[in-house]
Amino acid sequence: THFGDRTVAIGDKQGLVNEVFDKVAARYDLMNDLMSFGVHRLWKDALVAELSPPKAGSRDYRVLDMAGGTGDIAERIVNASVGFAQVTVADINADMLKVGEARARSWRFPAQVNFVEANAEELPFADASFNAYTIAFGIRNVPRIDKALAEAHRVLKRGGRLLVLEFSQADVPGFDALYRLFSDRVIPPMGRVVTGDAAPYSYLVESIRKFPTPEAFSGLVGKAGFRRVTHTAMTGSVAALHSAWKL
Ligand code: SAM
Repeated sequence: THFGDRTVAIGDKQGLVNEVFDKVAARYDLMNDLMSFGVHRLWKDALVAELSPPKAGSRDYRVLDMAGGTGDIAERIVNASVGFAQVTVADINADMLKVGEARARSWRFPAQVNFVEANAEELPFADASFNAYTIAFGIRNVPRIDKALAEAHRVLKRGGRLLVLEFSQADVPGFDALYRLFSDRVIPPMGRVVTGDAAPYSYLVESIRKFPTPEAFSGLVGKAGFRRVTHTAMTGSVAALHSAWKL
């Protein structure tokens, strides 16, 4: 695989991804707002609306928010369930988790979340232990997507939901050219100004371009054993929301 101007073995990709998030953790939330003009908030709201977690029930409702970083998705899920859902935020990066844990102290329902350092390819959770598995802008960073999806399938209960939010390829004529220009000319320099380093944001742009098309990604989801695999394009296909079930 390629990483900026370096060619790296797939086994090394994770180390480089970790360097990226070590560098940006402190400014991660600010950069998301700047780079997406705040639109990432709407995409995350859309994921949680699609999940529509229960607000009550006789059994626990457990969600694994994989690559959950600073906890954006987890906070929305807990709020949408008015404090009923229990969310585990798992991420491979301790710095991202630290920012998330600090933020969670001022949530409306801080007791509904726990933070776990874990690799999506090898989860430290028992089979059939979650009602839903969410991952927002995370799967793109995982070197072996097939392994991560197999693990997602394993830890979900039967009837469990998979929701993946990920970048896609802008496809509206005119807008796509503008988006390409913005990605090349604005995002890396903006990264340099805000975090002191442009390289992580060149990686971001590159990783978005290399990620499989929504159709190809849906194929991987099906291969991992999921059923009723669908995807919805958002904001001129800048992002896509993928949904599937363990049946
Ligand atoms: N979900 C959050 C959001 O939407 O704001 C964070 C997304 S951030 C772009 C990507 C996250 O994926 C980082 O926090 C990174 O540490 C994490 N990550 C990368 N590789 C991972 C892996 N193999 N297992 C778990 N998390 C990983």
